[in-house]
Amino acid sequence: INENNNISFRKIATSFPQVENNIHVVIRVRPLNSKEIRCGDTSTVDFPGNGQILVHGMPNGNSNQKEKTFSYDAVFEPASSQEDVFEFCGIKELIEMAVEGFRCTAFCYGQTGSGKTHTLTGPPGLFLQRPTAYHKDHGLILRSFVYLFQLLDKSSEIHYTLRASFLEIYNEKIIDLLNLGSSRKPLPIRWSKKARGFFVENLFTVVCEELDDLIAVLEEGMRNRSVGKHNMNEYSSRSHTILTINITSEIAAEGGVFISRTGKLNFVDLAGSEVTKKTQSGGKTLEEANNINKSLMVLGYCISSLSDPKRIGTHIPYRDSNLTKLLADSLAGNGVTLMIACISPAKSNQSESVNTLRYASRAKKIKTKPAVLMDPREALILNLKREITTLQSENDHL
Ligand code: ADP
Ligand code: MG
Repeated sequence: INENNNISFRKIATSFPQVENNIHVVIRVRPLNSKEIRCGDTSTVDFPGNGQILVHGMPNGNSNQKEKTFSYDAVFEPASSQEDVFEFCGIKELIEMAVEGFRCTAFCYGQTGSGKTHTLTGPPGLFLQRPTAYHKDHGLILRSFVYLFQLLDKSSEIHYTLRASFLEIYNEKIIDLLNLGSSRKPLPIRWSKKARGFFVENLFTVVCEELDDLIAVLEEGMRNRSVGKHNMNEYSSRSHTILTINITSEIAAEGGVFISRTGKLNFVDLAGSEVTKKTQSGGKTLEEANNINKSLMVLGYCISSLSDPKRIGTHIPYRDSNLTKLLADSLAGNGVTLMIACISPAKSNQSESVNTLRYASRAKKIKTKPAVLMDPREALILNLKREITTLQSENDHL
């Protein structure tokens, strides 16, 4: 048991994955779109393989660095399908770990129009079909739901309960996408002493017994996301959404002890990463501009702090924005994170794409120790039982 009364998962059972890297970073490059092609825009990236991406004609590049190669856990080329991304981005491992009790987050980062929502949910409306057979454009979330239920169906000794919630952060206000209410009243974030984490007060959570329940959550949230929005594109480029599935498992452990633990799976569709510059010069009020940027700025700051070995042990400003409060337990300490950085290959977007690649490179350097959260009392009982067994066997040898 460590100082937080957490018990490392590895100590409970050896069959669980050995976690060394808690952040997996992949890049997805969307195809040039028809407008870009019509305007004669060209691709400025190449794919040497081995998780590398090469950028030609680097912006502000001095004469000896006109091209630059960046390395990640994987790079998905424009021709990659939704299925390729699902199979090879690391989401399956993330889901497996969430089932085993880790706090896991998959987030899409990138400028507006780079393919974040396409990657997570696919084109609008597509999620309304039941995945008896996948449509080629079905996104990561839906494929993850199916995979999650495949995993749960296999394990008969463990009893699982799934609870889902879906929220949006716009202008630092938290809106419950499963329970809009008439006034769209924002919900407060509070600190829970017991869970040692932030939570959204009165957030609607839905117990999901089958796949269709999870799909209904996704549908309802996506529908509510667009309710009353005059300019959906502008709105979605400035808001963050977090779909969360809490997975509680109850298992009978050695010595007749009953253990319950709750893993978490977050899917985060972030606001466009270009927003910072645009809103500063835009016509918004200063407060609104600051607030819209705040969550992304603080996330960037947290990632920089976490990834810098010189800053180990220094203060990480999770509390400075609502997004980072809610993601703190995944980014820090004992969470596991999958970052999908989305970029456009077009020359006209190059400086934003390079910003995204640099951001992703920083995130890659984050190192923490994932662990499973368990009820401290149960962890203690388990350890005492273990000690008794050891003492008994020692005794037997005397
Ligand atoms: P974002 O959420 O980052 O603002 P979107 O996911 O909405 O961007 O993508 C912008 C447009 O580009 C959409 O019309 C989407 O369908 C298309 N698109 C994005 N990525 C891909 C891809 N990999 N393949 C085909 N079309 C894509
Ligand atoms: Mg989007």
